[in-house]
Amino acid sequence: MDLSNRLNDPALFKTQSYINGEWVGGDASFAVDNPANRQTLAEVSDVGEAGAKAAVTAAAEGFRVWRKTSPFERTRVLLKWLELIQEHTDDLATLITAEMGKPWREAKGEIAYGAGFVEWSAHEAARIHGETLPVPAPGARGWTIRQPVGVVSCITPWNFPAAMITRKAAPALAAGCSLVIKPAPETPLTALALAELADRAGFPKGTFNVICGDAAKLGPVMTGSPDVRMIGFTGSTEVGKLLMRQAADGIKRVALELGGNAPFIVMDDADLDAAATGVAQAKFRSGGQTCVSPNRIIVQDSVADAFIERLEAKISAVKAGDGFDTESDIGPLIHDEAVERVDALVKQAVSGGARIVVGGQPLADELGGSFYAPTLIDGGSFDLEIARSEIFGPVASVYRAKDEEQILGLANDTPYGLAAYLYTRDMGRVHRMSEGLDYGMIGVNAPMVGSASTPFGGVKESGIGREGGKWGVEEFTELKYVLLAGVNS
Ligand code: NAP
Repeated sequence: MDLSNRLNDPALFKTQSYINGEWVGGDASFAVDNPANRQTLAEVSDVGEAGAKAAVTAAAEGFRVWRKTSPFERTRVLLKWLELIQEHTDDLATLITAEMGKPWREAKGEIAYGAGFVEWSAHEAARIHGETLPVPAPGARGWTIRQPVGVVSCITPWNFPAAMITRKAAPALAAGCSLVIKPAPETPLTALALAELADRAGFPKGTFNVICGDAAKLGPVMTGSPDVRMIGFTGSTEVGKLLMRQAADGIKRVALELGGNAPFIVMDDADLDAAATGVAQAKFRSGGQTCVSPNRIIVQDSVADAFIERLEAKISAVKAGDGFDTESDIGPLIHDEAVERVDALVKQAVSGGARIVVGGQPLADELGGSFYAPTLIDGGSFDLEIARSEIFGPVASVYRAKDEEQILGLANDTPYGLAAYLYTRDMGRVHRMSEGLDYGMIGVNAPMVGSASTPFGGVKESGIGREGGKWGVEEFTELKYVLLAGVNS
C-alpha cells in the first residue's frame, strides 16, 4: 500500500524524526508494517542515542521560550493545532488504520477523542493559577503559583497512536512544558503527522519533538538526562516499573498510565440487553486491545445464562476484517505474536474447564493478516491466566459469582486497578459497589469512561497520576509557595 498516494495531504507522510523544528534522519531504520496484510508501509529512520540527546537539548531550549509565553498565546497555538488536526482527520485516521489496523471509522473516532484533549487543554491554559493564603505572621502575605514542570519525555503505545500523544502533549504544552515524544515503533507515522501539524500550528522551535528509534538507546536519554524533569508514560505495567526505576535516580516526576484487568459486573437487577451491548462496545474497541477493555465479565449466577445468550447474539455478529473495509467491525491484532498469545490464553482456558461459545481461533489463514475471531468464553475459573492477565484481544470471558460481597472480592483480586464497569439499577448497589471497587474509574451502566474533561487513570499497578480535565494539566505543573514578610507591621 503506497500511503503517500492515499493521503489527501501527502506532506503528512513523514519517515524522519522531528527535532528542533527540523526533520532528521539516522544511520539505521526500521520497517512499519500493516498488520491487516503484513505489507511494509514505510522504513522509518532510527535517530539513536545522538538524536535523543539532540531532542532533549532542543526541548530544554524550547522550554526557555515556551514557559515565558502568555497563557493566551499558548491557547492560540494549541487551538491552531486543534484546527489542523480536525481538518486532517481523514488522513490521520488513514495512517492509524494502516499502521495498527483498527477500522477507519473507529480511527476517526480516536482523532475526535484525541482532539478533545487539545481543545480542553487549550482553554485550561488560561485557568492555571495559584491562591493567596492565610499566614501566621502579622502583615505577611503568602501565595502559591503554578509553574510548568519543564522538559517532559512522553513514551506512548501503539493502541491509540494519536490520542495517547494528545492526552499528554496538549496539557503539557498548555502548562508551558516542552516535549520529547517517543511513539511505539509499530505506529510512528501518526505521531510524525501530528508533529507536522504542530509545526504548521507554530509551536516555537524545540517545544515539540518526536523521536523514533530503538527504545534501548532512546529510553535511557529520555529518562536519565538532567534536562528532563518528568516522564509521562502510557504502556505496560512492566515497562512502567522499569521507567520509574530509571527516573528514581534523578527524582524525576512520573505520570504512568499502565495496564488493566477490568471487571465488567452484571448484577441480577441489571438491564441485560444494555449490559450485553455495553460489553460488545467496550470489548471490541480497538479489537480488544485497550487498557480499559472488559477482561473479566462477572455475572450474578441467577442471570448468567440469560446474559450469555444475549452476548452470544452480539458477538456472533461482530465481523473481523481489514480496517479499510467498511463492513469490518474489528481489525487485526497488532502482530502475529499477539494472535499467538491470545490463542494460547484461550486454549489454556478451555483445558481449564471453560467453554467456547463463539469463535476461539485465529483467522490469519482466511483473512491474510494478524486476525483473531471475535470470541465468547463461558465458565472459566478465576485462577486461569486469562483472568489474571490482560487478554488484549477480541475475547470476552464470562465468570459467574454469587452475591455482591463475593463479586467485589473477585473484582479486586488483581494487582491492577484501572477501569471497572457495573451494571445495576439499584442505587444502593451503585454506591456500595462503586465505593468498594479498587479502581480509578467506574462506569455505571456506561461502557466508555474516558473523555477530555474527566480524570483518566488507575490505582495500584495501573498507574500514578491522571490525564484529562483540570487534573491532566495540573500534572505538568509545580506548586510553588511564596511568603512575603510583613511590610506594614
Ligand atoms: P509497552 O510494551 O509497555 O510499550 C509502550 C511504549 O514503551 C512503546 O513506545 C515502547 O517502545 C516503549 N518502551 C518499552 N521499553 C522501553 C524502555 N526500556 N525505555 C523506553 N521506552 C520503552 O506497551 P504496548 O505493548 O505498546 O501497549 C500495551 C500496553 O499499554 C497494555 O498494557 C495497555 O493496557 C497499556 N495501555 C495503558 C493505557 C492507559 O491509559 N492506562 C492506555 C493504552 C495502553 P518499544 O516497543 O520500542 O520498546
